[in-house]
Amino acid sequence: MKTIAIVATGGTIAGTGKKGKTAAYHAGEIDIDSIIETIPEINEVAHIKEYQLMNIDSNEMTHEKWLILKNNIEEILSDDTIDGAVVTHGTDTLDETAYFLTLTLNTPKPVVLTGAMRPATATSADGPFNLYQAICLACHGESYNRGVLALFSNTIYSGRDIEKVNNFKIDAFDQRSLGCLGYMQDQEVYFYTQTSKIHTIKSRFNKRIDSIKSVAIAFYYSGADAKILYDLASDHEGIVIAGSGSGNYSQAWLKAIEELSEKGTIFVRSSRISQGIVFDDEKDGEWYLGYISAARKNNIVSGKGDGSFGIGEAISRQDAAVILYNILKNNGLSNDKGIDFADSDMISDYAIDAINVLSANSVINGVGDNMFSPLGRLTRAEAAKLIFESIKYIK
Ligand code: ASP
Repeated sequence: MKTIAIVATGGTIAGTGKKGKTAAYHAGEIDIDSIIETIPEINEVAHIKEYQLMNIDSNEMTHEKWLILKNNIEEILSDDTIDGAVVTHGTDTLDETAYFLTLTLNTPKPVVLTGAMRPATATSADGPFNLYQAICLACHGESYNRGVLALFSNTIYSGRDIEKVNNFKIDAFDQRSLGCLGYMQDQEVYFYTQTSKIHTIKSRFNKRIDSIKSVAIAFYYSGADAKILYDLASDHEGIVIAGSGSGNYSQAWLKAIEELSEKGTIFVRSSRISQGIVFDDEKDGEWYLGYISAARKNNIVSGKGDGSFGIGEAISRQDAAVILYNILKNNGLSNDKGIDFADSDMISDYAIDAINVLSANSVINGVGDNMFSPLGRLTRAEAAKLIFESIKYIK
């Protein structure tokens, strides 16, 4: 029999209220062992180990608590005697935590999130059955290395694509046009499909994380004041724009985004529409198209991970290093190992070789105190130095 860890965080599944009623209750009131007691049949399925990490309404979930969750799940699953984990979580932000864990957990073992729409004291509470099925799913051989999963109302979702779409029905989640991964009937698991996106053990975010940068989401709507962006930029390092349609906004927002990105705020363009694609930002007929296409053909630049080029964005120090490296790499740079910067683990995988070689050849240096500051903006003065040092190698 497999051993499954139940990592409890609270939510409606641990909620109590007026006997029999589904409304007006408090989330995160009872412990996981009281919920497990309501499903004695689980003892025929798995050995259970309980970890009550917190007992909160999921609207109290924070970045710090995400890190507690990630670190604890990794630690628990590093024990060879534990085969998988089920995370009980409030439904309000379950989709966010599922996405975070999909990107950051460094384990191939099954991790299944579940919760409930009705408190434990309601007539026909849905929590115990969801928990039962989630444990069965975590035990199932095909759940291994499929990325973080979520189980709700007999349906198996991918942690990456699950979305809360209803705020009172028990069938509250969906993956919209991406379908779902499969279904369950009692303890039986029927997988139909799997995500083709990188997750968990292959994700570039699965390293140790000590803190999460402050990034805000700015929701665009008709007449939205660009002041929102200036306010957010004053205390956030990055802003994700939830634009209309395929990630759009007004000219006033465009102006604010251009101004603020010059000053160092990082913008990522996204959409408030949960289905579709955020298309490329290269606009027909613009002056830069020929340059970008020539640089692409010569393998000097590529686009950003989100499919856009980042036309109006200032350049990061690591991206500047990659571009110069692509230009110089066949020009006799020595391949010696570069400086081991104190913030080396902040360097993205795609930029490591470039920064190593360029720093070994003194084309690029760190920024004081042995830091590289890979995501910092490249200043005009630094650009001048880089160009000057590079010219020496261009034959
Ligand atoms: N407010 C609750 C929570 O997110 C809702 C739920 O669990 O369904 O914790």
